[in-house]
Amino acid sequence: GASNGMGGEDIGSAAKAHFVLVPLMYQGHVIPAVDTAMLLATHGALASVVATPYNAARIRPTIDFARRSGLPIRLVELPLDCAAVGLPEGADDVDKIPPALHTNYFDALALLAAPLEQHLRAHPPYPTCIVSDFCHSWTVGVAANLNVPRLSLYSMCAFCLLCQHNVERFNSYEGVADDNEPVVVPGLEKRIEVTRAQAPGFFRAPGFDHLADAIECARAKADGVVMNSFLEMEPEYIAGYEAARNMKVWTIGPVSLYHRYAATLAARGNTSTAIAADECIRWLDGKEPNSVAYVSFGSIVHADPKQVMELGLGLEASGHPFIWVLKNPDHYGEAVREFLGDLEERVAGRGMLIKGWSPQVLILNHAAVGGFVTHCGWNSTLEAIAAGLPVVTWPHFSDQFLNEKLAVEVLGIGVSIGVKEPLVWRIDNKEIVVGREVVEAAVRSIMDGGDEGEGRRRKALALSEKARAAVQEGGSSFANLLDLIKRFEVDAGGCTTE
Ligand code: UDP
Repeated sequence: GASNGMGGEDIGSAAKAHFVLVPLMYQGHVIPAVDTAMLLATHGALASVVATPYNAARIRPTIDFARRSGLPIRLVELPLDCAAVGLPEGADDVDKIPPALHTNYFDALALLAAPLEQHLRAHPPYPTCIVSDFCHSWTVGVAANLNVPRLSLYSMCAFCLLCQHNVERFNSYEGVADDNEPVVVPGLEKRIEVTRAQAPGFFRAPGFDHLADAIECARAKADGVVMNSFLEMEPEYIAGYEAARNMKVWTIGPVSLYHRYAATLAARGNTSTAIAADECIRWLDGKEPNSVAYVSFGSIVHADPKQVMELGLGLEASGHPFIWVLKNPDHYGEAVREFLGDLEERVAGRGMLIKGWSPQVLILNHAAVGGFVTHCGWNSTLEAIAAGLPVVTWPHFSDQFLNEKLAVEVLGIGVSIGVKEPLVWRIDNKEIVVGREVVEAAVRSIMDGGDEGEGRRRKALALSEKARAAVQEGGSSFANLLDLIKRFEVDAGGCTTE
């Protein structure tokens, strides 16, 4: 059965608002959901975070720490029934799910509906609002049964959501035979071009259509949107998305900035990092300001072995100090491991490899870091913006191509590596390897790109200042957070307390 995973049941029972956050169980969704919960709790609302065992284990220390410091926050651990949907035991760790079985994973998550409802009925205070990842269409039923409002939670930007929404609403790809033929996104003031390959629509891939339809239906029916973005970065797109969906959007980000005040930063997302935070800081302390390039592709991407080598050689040739995060290096064969060993020797003192989980936000905010080579996952992109860093954009799949367009074409803080087609979720699994010269040139361009480089850095710093102002008292995200809590207090109307 479900467990609260901690004692101290009294915490939060005095709160008037009780938000239940239901992230998708991937790190790029769990991490910002936990940050959001912390922010809500900091302002007096009770926040319950739902997680399956594998994910719960990763975030429990963070939540326990917050509870000990008096925050009204709870972890609701629910078991995942892998066997019921034909998944191997332990598939709660999404790295262990074979690509073809990811829809089964979504089926397993949908089975959380009944246990979640039971849990919430059995553990007062009664929820006043469900904040559900937009992918969890099954929370529509939970919210309806409990008779509480339901908001969609997006770790995505409004620019991306609006582009995707408009392309779908106006059937922009209709009659376009070539997946790589650019079409202009309708309904925007700025001219933005996308291809079906880059932005097919969420889960619009063979075998995922029923899921995509259910998700769209749940998104359209939501009572509002909570978004990890901030007003000053993309005001026209936030307003555009609100109008297009005819629903309120609360932008409360960048949520990673919550951690400026907390000792939880280094442990964000995973308490066991592959490198100790202080070792990382010591290494960075020895480098000049803005001299180090940070290179990471997020929590899901596995690079092709050939790509790993080209990337390594490109970083070496750039001449810049770098920190390169390679998730799961054991996944590679002897040739890559030998290559990495040799590379580490050649660049000793200048280049550092983190093999596993990196304390990313801690690193990005160190003064020695001057640029970020990113896959443009939204969390990473916004973390770069919050830290005032120019980026090399290297999208792989999902919303990443649109995030690249935001960084390069709208915000002017990025240099594109030039990849035009997604790497995964493709049936033909075509290899696209970016050459070492391209990597070298892109890194040089963000790190020491002359006037253009300076321009990008200035814009990134200006955005960072706006981001920090947004989350402080008097700022837009701060105000939205308070408004959100107020709207969903017990006595605010529209909520049942039973
Ligand atoms: N992250 C981290 N250390 C790592 C890899 C990722 O802290 O070694 C964090 C990163 O800061 C971000 C999240 O994990 O908050 C990844 O989310 P993103 O949207 O960037 O990409 P995804 O993993 O979803 O592709």
